[in-house]
Amino acid sequence: MIPFNLPPVTGSEVDYLRKAIENRKLCGDGWFTQKCQEWLERHTGCRRALLTPSCTHALEMCAVLLDVKPGDEVIMPSYTFSSTANAFLLRGATVVFVDIRPDTMNMDERAVERAITPRTKGIVVVHYAGVACEMDAILALAEKYGLFVVEDAAQGMMSAYKGRPLGSIGHLGCYSFHETKNLTSGEGGALLINDPALCERAEIIREKGTNRRRFLLGEVDKYTWVDIGSSFLPSELNAAYLYAQFEKAEAIQQKRLSIWRRYYNGLKPLSEAGRLELPAPPPHCSHNAHMFYVKVRDRNERDRMIAFLKKRGITAAFHYIPLHRSEAGQRWARFHGIDRYTTSESERLVRLPLYYDLKAEDADVVIREIHRFFEGG
Ligand SMILES: *Cc1c(COP(=O)(O)O)cnc(C)c1O
Repeated sequence: MIPFNLPPVTGSEVDYLRKAIENRKLCGDGWFTQKCQEWLERHTGCRRALLTPSCTHALEMCAVLLDVKPGDEVIMPSYTFSSTANAFLLRGATVVFVDIRPDTMNMDERAVERAITPRTKGIVVVHYAGVACEMDAILALAEKYGLFVVEDAAQGMMSAYKGRPLGSIGHLGCYSFHETKNLTSGEGGALLINDPALCERAEIIREKGTNRRRFLLGEVDKYTWVDIGSSFLPSELNAAYLYAQFEKAEAIQQKRLSIWRRYYNGLKPLSEAGRLELPAPPPHCSHNAHMFYVKVRDRNERDRMIAFLKKRGITAAFHYIPLHRSEAGQRWARFHGIDRYTTSESERLVRLPLYYDLKAEDADVVIREIHRFFEGG
């Protein structure tokens, strides 16, 4: 049996969990949280990194921090996870979806400008499969129209766009450490703050709207309720597990990349024969091998391939049902322009097993079975 995903275990997690327990400080912002945040700041160059309980929470913090209000419009791709939209809907915004590009499955930067109205407040980019959106074009639009840019970099940690780490390019960036992501704490996330003007308020929002952090730093003599906010801090136990993963981030990345390349080379003959399409990350986007997908002819062939692999003990999966076609999306959001690629491209995408512990032999089994599928079983 080859599962679709297994969360990585690097070896020091139990040791670090024990240390966190022995520290007798399990609430948020303890020693391991600080270590993780410093690590993120050092590796991304962001102004401030804050751990959150999930990427969903980091996105929700963005909407509060950017003062998103009823009537505001926020542009994003429809090909994403519900959290990208929910975070802004929860603040009363109108979500405006635009089409994706077929080559990267990322938001089509050319579709964004046509969707901008006087009510547009910001753009949320989603770096699908850890491959960057065209950030130069997006940032130019943001500058021209005075919009915020949030990066949903849930899948994009350790990837870069023209050498700049994903999550460190927009005003704000969000990471996920859910167990399906490259580095994990089971559930977890981080908010990366790149605009220095947003740092102080972010810490207040994360601490239930209080200035507790300034109090702990000795900057004010008592702490009090100063703004709206919520509890956006993870427990030290999660941070301890996560720090063990950060220390092995490079090894995890290299292992994933080697599997990614193995799939690519093994399936290349099928791509050359026109049977399937392989991912084509642009050369200026260095990626983290978050995902390996192939695209087959259509939805029917996709379903047949997934069933064929399942019968042979291999779990492959399709991905997002476009949000504008979902029940909530139809009620609360609109799609601007035509859906040229979002639906049709998403329907023919199949994701293959890819995780830290996946053995080369098992990847070879997956490759062999896909060849057999096209040979007619
Ligand atoms: C995983 C994911 C999320 C949600 O992350 P959580 O940490 O589970 O909240 C949001 N957006 C995208 C694009 C994701 O892949």
